[in-house]
Amino acid sequence: MDPYIGLSLFTLIAFSALFSGLTLGLYSLDKTELERKTQLGDKRAERVFRIRKRGNLLLVSLLLGNVAVNSAASIILGSVASGVVAGFVATGLIVIFGEIIPQAVCARYAMIVGYKTAWLVELIMFILYPVAKPLAWVLDNVLGEELRTIWSKRELEHIIRMHEDDPRSNVDEDEERILLGALRFSDKTAEQVMTPKKDMFEIQKKTVLDQRQLHQIREIGFTRIPVYARDKNDIVGILYAKDLIGVDPDNQETVEKMMRTYQMIHVSPNRRLDSLLNMMIVRHAHMAMVREKSGRLLGIVTMEDVVEEIIGREIIDEDDDVI
Ligand code: ATP
Repeated sequence: MDPYIGLSLFTLIAFSALFSGLTLGLYSLDKTELERKTQLGDKRAERVFRIRKRGNLLLVSLLLGNVAVNSAASIILGSVASGVVAGFVATGLIVIFGEIIPQAVCARYAMIVGYKTAWLVELIMFILYPVAKPLAWVLDNVLGEELRTIWSKRELEHIIRMHEDDPRSNVDEDEERILLGALRFSDKTAEQVMTPKKDMFEIQKKTVLDQRQLHQIREIGFTRIPVYARDKNDIVGILYAKDLIGVDPDNQETVEKMMRTYQMIHVSPNRRLDSLLNMMIVRHAHMAMVREKSGRLLGIVTMEDVVEEIIGREIIDEDDDVI
């Protein structure tokens, strides 16, 4: 075979490999992921994103280029061999060296191949622009914008778990638990995390803060004690243990005098925890009363109950009894 023909064939098959490899490789790279990596300062991703974001123009250019070099290779082979032989050889060469091998390589090393050949792809897009642009324009208008990849919460949870399980990931077990908790806590309600009424420590507003009462409050260890008036559903304030520092038991002060009536939050049992947390932050309150529409008290939720859901762990403080 004439060496010029051999060289031309080699060049055409090489381009065929590049085009088909890049078509598969670049389109296997998610545009949203490339954008995110670019924003995080990844130089390779930034370079690849510049061509990948051209969407249909890139696709049409690569496909036009691929078809053109494949056809040229077949024509050249046809000029040096008989029709049937040329057909078989061209098919074999194009399928193996122009399609299978480059696609297998690019599927695995899409980023690095895309980065190294970006200049060439841009040159080809420039050359083919007059033909490719109208076709891409039609596709853009018929199919619309390429959609961003948006993951559902369930998918995100799965991705986080997969990362934690993979030894190459730097997401550790604690981070996995907190990330999963942060994704899930807004689906939980106040009723699911509250301390029920039967376990609440409340105090009647007329109670006199004598030696015995102050001792009991200290012993029980809660920082906030709901104060009720007529009955246990009728919460009228919160007594803060820290406000009792320095109270003289002989002065016979009543709870009513020492309690605070502001910073009271009342929520329905189905209030979502994210909204409850925001409410607590805005109102500077760490405790909320959970009530039914009828006014019946069901329990209390504190900031700690909500935080426990986010971090996925029980917080035991100095005064909690642990078995
Ligand atoms: P802090 O940690 O701010 O000093 P605390 O230890 O009294 O407050 P939290 O840490 O807010 O209480 O809550 C710990 C747990 O105790 C939570 O499950 C909460 O619902 C419950 N809890 C808080 N106050 C009371 C109370 N008065 N009666 C019953 N359970 C309460």
